Amino acid sequence: MEKETFLLVAIIVVALIYFLFFRNRASREGTGREGRGDKQAARGPAAAARRVPPSAAEADELVPESIEVEDDAQPKAPTRPLSQPPAAPSKSKRPPPPETLSRAPDVQTLRRGLGRSRDSGGVFGRLKALLGGQRDIDASIAQQIEEVLLTSDVGAATTQTILNRIREGLDRGELTNADAVWRALRQEAVRMLSIDGRAGGGIELRHSPTVVLFVGVNGAGKTTTIGKLATQLEAAGKKCVLAAGDTFRAAAVQQLVIWGKRVGCEVVHGKDGADPGSVLFEAIKKAEEVGADVVLADTAGRLHTKANLMNEMQKIARSAGKAASGAPHETFLVIDATNGQNALAQAREFKDALEITGIVLTKLDGTAKGGVVLGISDSLRVPVRFVGMGEGPDDLHEFAPQRFVDALLGDEQAA
Ligand code: GDP
Ligand code: MG
Repeated sequence: MEKETFLLVAIIVVALIYFLFFRNRASREGTGREGRGDKQAARGPAAAARRVPPSAAEADELVPESIEVEDDAQPKAPTRPLSQPPAAPSKSKRPPPPETLSRAPDVQTLRRGLGRSRDSGGVFGRLKALLGGQRDIDASIAQQIEEVLLTSDVGAATTQTILNRIREGLDRGELTNADAVWRALRQEAVRMLSIDGRAGGGIELRHSPTVVLFVGVNGAGKTTTIGKLATQLEAAGKKCVLAAGDTFRAAAVQQLVIWGKRVGCEVVHGKDGADPGSVLFEAIKKAEEVGADVVLADTAGRLHTKANLMNEMQKIARSAGKAASGAPHETFLVIDATNGQNALAQAREFKDALEITGIVLTKLDGTAKGGVVLGISDSLRVPVRFVGMGEGPDDLHEFAPQRFVDALLGDEQAA
């Protein structure tokens, strides 16, 4: 009898120990799944790419993992002579980067992004209504095309350049049918978009780190573009450091910090009102220290006066040059396509003050006037590098003139 009691007690004790052990393990696993502190890197780039831009509510939830620059920090003397290249970065823990960074989208993807420009009220839709079918072409077609282009934000000067080509073709008797006119239009568009013979956009990382300054008016899409580009570069195995140079608004710094958190890259920022030049200087030094491939620098889009803003941008560019010789290596002007001809006027002011090396045209998904890209490219004579067609990281595309024209002015069956 005693033996049976002993056995019973032993079984109960073993069962109790098992129960406690499994309950602890299950609750540990449950907490792990629910935890919000997991690193973006653990989710992988594909997961990052599916995410939407940071919202203000998220700002409260996420603790920034970033580096703060002292309020009064001023650009210090470079720690190495400018003629000497930066120390070879240590990249031992990172996967080898791919050979190229080409992410040129296919024509169908671009076509979806340009949906509004392609439907019946958009630039393509309206040209299609004029040049549809196989109807014969007469001299009046030039004037009808002119009207569509002028009301599609192509701009007066650019429209005239395109029309000169069409009229020449008509005079020589080369453009006798709609197909021939389409071909001439597309050819002229590609020619206008291929600045300096560039057949593509994107970014080349020739320096270590390559410093890219983003400028443009408030709301143009600078911060969002930096977030999207950082996501894509990190997914391609490139290490990014973000510089929160829009120090005039706390929310702007926070927006970039959240992007950095999502992408899994470092963000260097200062306190409210910190000197943006110092922030960029520190960001470049940080990038050299950690062996980053690229520094993406955000800036403010509005100051008390336009002259102030342009002076500030020039100062920031000089600070970059003090941190690394030749920096900034690229200065991208971010333009909101929905602003049409107004955007062009603003762009000229930035171009007069700074050496703009590329254009990022955002919000093409939000306008029926996709022809604005022709006017901007033709009048600024600066290559478009990227186009934004939505708010997610996947919606930033490398610009390729031929593909873009096929998407904007091509028939469904074309490519
Ligand atoms: P910034 O002031 O120049 O930094 O502009 P933001 O990056 O804060 O962007 C302003 C707004 O435009 C945000 O709501 C973005 O989500 C939105 N935005 C930026 N790029 C695009 C784009 O390509 N398409 C659309 N639809 N919205 C965009
Ligand atoms: Mg911003």
